[in-house]
Order: sequence, then structure tokens, then C-alpha cells
Amino acid sequence: MKFSCVYVEEEIADTPRVQEILCRLSQTPKVSISRYGEVFNRRSQNFRLQKRKPALILAKKYGKFVLPAPEGYGFNRDPSFYFSHMLNCVYDCRYCFLQGMYRSANYVLFTNYEDFAASLQDEMTAQSKNTVFYSGYDCDSLALEPVSKFTEFFIDWFAQRPTTTLEIRTKSTQVRSLFNLSPISNCIIAMSFTPSDVNQEWEDKVPSIDKRLEALGKLQEQGWRIALRLEPLIYQKDFEKSYERLLASIFDKLDAKNIHSVSTGLFRMPKTFFKNIVENYPDEALYARRFDQRDGLIAQFVNQETEMTDIVESLLAKYIPKSILYRCA
Ligand code: SF4
Repeated sequence: MKFSCVYVEEEIADTPRVQEILCRLSQTPKVSISRYGEVFNRRSQNFRLQKRKPALILAKKYGKFVLPAPEGYGFNRDPSFYFSHMLNCVYDCRYCFLQGMYRSANYVLFTNYEDFAASLQDEMTAQSKNTVFYSGYDCDSLALEPVSKFTEFFIDWFAQRPTTTLEIRTKSTQVRSLFNLSPISNCIIAMSFTPSDVNQEWEDKVPSIDKRLEALGKLQEQGWRIALRLEPLIYQKDFEKSYERLLASIFDKLDAKNIHSVSTGLFRMPKTFFKNIVENYPDEALYARRFDQRDGLIAQFVNQETEMTDIVESLLAKYIPKSILYRCA
């Protein structure tokens, strides 16, 4: 993994985790900073240009570590929360809201995992029911794994708390560290897929569908619980045929009886993020389409959403029971 440089907050520069990360990146130039916002929130940054040569920022997180998951986000009705040990993503999906949310395309990695764990514990203790924590909302949880060693720390933490669940959302094939760990039943590796035409057109740097399926298949064989996220459903000509092919490939490689859950999810984005993306990518065909506006969000038209969701769900019914299918809001 190459970064143009590593910015390191002075406060955490001498901590063991930061020192280990810097050892792994011994060839990358280092720059000392006082707070990550100086670099990340700087005005006049160009997300599109920066995305070509992003830097890594090692920072300490303060404030809220764990937030309630949006209504309808999760696979069940248990209390649900999300947390982000990173901001931004090493991949470059043109439909991704992150490009409109941040000014910077640099990656922020918060290294104070122990403080995240303390907040997860507080939330878990405050709930009377089982709790589900989602990782991978503002980033891809595994894509930076060789640097972050996120799973080593958090899988061990969740292994000791079997009544609470961790979902790791990813499009990454960086699963080697999971092969070195014993599977735990309260961790779900949820891989997102779109059909190959969407993958080729709008998912720059994302591993191919075959490579992701190979990684997911190995995890499943090893005993990890896996899930499929068919998100976002983007309306395309001949989408039915594309999804038929995608599902045939998926269920050729995976054991359909041994899948935790499958979700469909729609393309949604706050208007301000959409505007920022169009400014960055004025020549992008995806954003030259006509979209609908509902409740302050940019979305596809209801008839397109309904048609796609119904058709994809009916295709899925050939492979999986309805009981493990849900719609992610
Ligand atoms: S993998 Fe997910 S988080 Fe990363 S750019 Fe694509 S949609 Fe965004």
C-alpha cells in the first residue's frame, strides 16, 4: 500500500501502535502535525486530484466514538450502532457518498482502538438487549488491514463478548489476518457486490468480483459467518441479466445454506454531497442522469427503485430463503 506521505499527530507519535505502523511504512516520508484537522479539513483541497496520491494521517479520535445506526440500516431490530476507525476509503467508487462528504481524499486512521473499545463497552452495558455494532460506514473496514491491524484488535475484543455482534462491511480481499484468527460466531463479514458492468464502470481499485468471491469462499470454508450486501442497486439497462449473472457467480462459489444474511440497498445521497461530487466530477455520466429529490436526499426515481428491488429479490429467491433477506435503508 503506497501513500504520498504519513502525517502523524504529535500526541500519539510515541504510542506502540503508531510506532508499529510507522515501521511498516518505513519507506514513506513522515510529517509531524498537531491535529489531523489541519490537513484533513484544510480549505481549497481538490478531492479528485488528491485521490490520485492520497496521504495517510495517523490521529487520535476524541468525542463520540459510537453512533446509533440509521433507522433500517441493520439486519435485525436489536439496538444497532456504528463506529469508524477510519475516514475515507482506499477504493474509488464513483457512487460513494464519501467523495461529497469530505474535502480531503486523504485517509485518517484513528489509532486509539482502546478508546473505541471503551465506548463500545459503555453502549453494550447501557442496552438491555443484544447489541449490533457495524464497522465500515465511513470507510472500508478491511482495505487498510495490513497497516491498521484492525481485526487483530477488535476480533479479540468481540470474542470475549459473545452476546454482542460485529458486522464488518467491506469490498476488500485483505482477509489474510482473518485466516490467522479463529472464527467467532458473533462476527459477520459482509461483502458488498454490484454486477460486473457497475464494478467495471464505477468501482475503481475495487477487487474483481471473482477475487472477492474467492476470499469470501475461503472465509466461509474456514467457519467465518459471511453475508452479502447487494448495494447500491443502480438502475442500468439490462440490469436483470446483470444480476442474474452476478447471483449465478456468487452462489456457484458460496454455500447458500451457510449465509448469515443478504441485503439490498438503494442509492441515496444528501443533496450537498451530491453537489460537491458533481463539482469534482462534472464529466461523470452517472451524475448527468436525472435523479429524484426526496426528503433532502438525491435518489433514483421510485418506479426504478421498486422495479429493481422487486426483480433482484425475486432472483435471490431462487437461492436463499426470504427469512435471511432484508432491505437496508
Ligand atoms: S468501497 Fe465502499 S466506502 Fe469505499 S469507495 Fe466504494 S462505496 Fe465508498
